[in-house]
Amino acid sequence: MSFEKLGLIKPLLSAIKELGYEHPTTVQKRAIPLVLAKSDIFATAQTGTGKTAAFALPILQKLRHPLEHNDVRVVILSPTRELSIQIYEDILSYSTNMKVKTMILVGGKDLEAQKRKLKDGIDIVIATPGRLLEHIETGLSLNSVEIMVLDEADRMLDMGFTKDIRKIHPLLPKRHQTLLFSATFSEKVRKLSKLILTKPAFIETAKKNTTVDTINQVAYLVDTDRKAELLAYLIGSRNFPQVLVFTKTKVSADELIVELQKDGLKCGIIHGDKTKANRLKTLTQFKEGKTRVLVATDIASRGLDIEHLPYVINYELPSIPEDYVHRVGRTGRAGRQGEAISLIDIYEKYDIRDIERLIGQKIPQETVDGFEPDPTIRRKDQDELKLKAEHKRASGKKERQYNKNTSGVPKGRKQLKETKKKRKTTKRDPK
Ligand code: AMP
Repeated sequence: MSFEKLGLIKPLLSAIKELGYEHPTTVQKRAIPLVLAKSDIFATAQTGTGKTAAFALPILQKLRHPLEHNDVRVVILSPTRELSIQIYEDILSYSTNMKVKTMILVGGKDLEAQKRKLKDGIDIVIATPGRLLEHIETGLSLNSVEIMVLDEADRMLDMGFTKDIRKIHPLLPKRHQTLLFSATFSEKVRKLSKLILTKPAFIETAKKNTTVDTINQVAYLVDTDRKAELLAYLIGSRNFPQVLVFTKTKVSADELIVELQKDGLKCGIIHGDKTKANRLKTLTQFKEGKTRVLVATDIASRGLDIEHLPYVINYELPSIPEDYVHRVGRTGRAGRQGEAISLIDIYEKYDIRDIERLIGQKIPQETVDGFEPDPTIRRKDQDELKLKAEHKRASGKKERQYNKNTSGVPKGRKQLKETKKKRKTTKRDPK
């Protein structure tokens, strides 16, 4: 299918042609006609599926006729500053042949300067929920908003923006369109969708919580204290040109970068303790190829869009299995091949099972010659683990026994009533 067939107007078609997009991705094929037809949308589209264009292109088409007023017509909410910038850059490139005014409202910039710019008339606002509320509290009106987008809604809710979104939603006019995009399908997102969406069309472009098909995933077993060495070896021996490395904590990110620098690797680091300006500078240097390795924590993993990123390495597995999906989604974007490598120690060997359960896929475990784990090393929490497993086995046994006694299914009130009724009938039957 071509973009023309989706009903997009010429200024947009020529802009995307310029960007080298040949065919719409699955989420684009499904979402673009629905957005143009004014439908609310609930899309579970992973990062890298082309979801930004899926909402941005039809939105721009809807804004092609300027209105008399100067008010904001579209609000796009995003969890982080980095993702907001990415969306902004994408919208700028899609709207290059149009007269649509777009602006980012995120923290770290002068509120007054943002207010002045807003007064001049802005069509699309891309904002983090907190900063948008600050503007609303000081006079920004959402009365003329036609479309609201929640991008990476699951992440926004995980980051504690639920209250802010609940405050923003009632301020929108009754008739407006809402597009919700989420990488994963969590209970929190489902609840929010019920509150903010009206008769939405559902778009599911990938199975719940699965990783993108084009990513090769592998886990290398290695001792904890040899991880940095193995990482440097992999980057060097396999000649990785550009690699994004994830750590679980800021502390291990800081420690890792020192080790990698000792091996002569040019590295950048992004985590919550770095200033926003610093994070942006580091990202730009990585994008421009000035640094070969970018070490990041999970908070920074969202919103990083790096073209053709071929390798993602999990130096440590994330605390939350869902974050694995977000991390590896940084590679294999828009149908391209990618590789996600996890370095797992004796502890993580068990943690990876939760990830496998979530993505419904087995991640092959291998070793690298010269880095095989020392078989004499035991987990420090071995005894605790054994005890836990025993408890689990015992409670499993109890449950199985219970199910056997109750023919497998615990009976609810209704079921019990039905059984009673049946018994009565049986008694009468012999007449
Ligand atoms: P997103 O999922 O929105 O973060 O997009 C991931 C990447 O895919 C971005 O670099 C986009 O520029 C790119 N992209 C989006 N749509 C297409 C398309 N139809 N063809 C090729 N690349 C695309």
